[in-house]
Amino acid sequence: MSDCIFCKIANGEIPVNVVYEDDRILSFHDADPQAPVHVLIIPKKHIPTMDDVTEEDGELIAHIMLKVKDIAKELGLNNGYRLVNNCGEDGFQTVKHLHFHLLGKRRMTWPPG
Ligand code: AMP
Ligand code: ZN
Repeated sequence: MSDCIFCKIANGEIPVNVVYEDDRILSFHDADPQAPVHVLIIPKKHIPTMDDVTEEDGELIAHIMLKVKDIAKELGLNNGYRLVNNCGEDGFQTVKHLHFHLLGKRRMTWPPG
């Protein structure tokens, strides 16, 4: 999608601090970190929200989930972390391109705000 900021990041139009990249996914540091370590993991394919994931995206989503522990290890998150997806209005999703927040290096609270 031409006006999607994360599509622009995925195709290199907007530079980011990349943590991991392959042909299907990209991970980069969040511009407004909410923890000492805060990275985003996105599919390069434009999928607006978790609600829009289809059966055919199953392998892509599994690929993201399987990379989480590698990215966490790379970032030194040896004492745990939080993986978050904000979906839609109530989930307070601000960028309508599917992404997962990986946060760490501080103790999280529960329930989330
Ligand atoms: P969400 O509120 O779940 O949609 O999260 C969107 C996230 O994208 C926020 O944490 C923003 O700080 C982050 N973000 C927006 N634009 C950029 C950018 N150009 N580079 C890095 N992170 C960004
Ligand atoms: Zn997009």
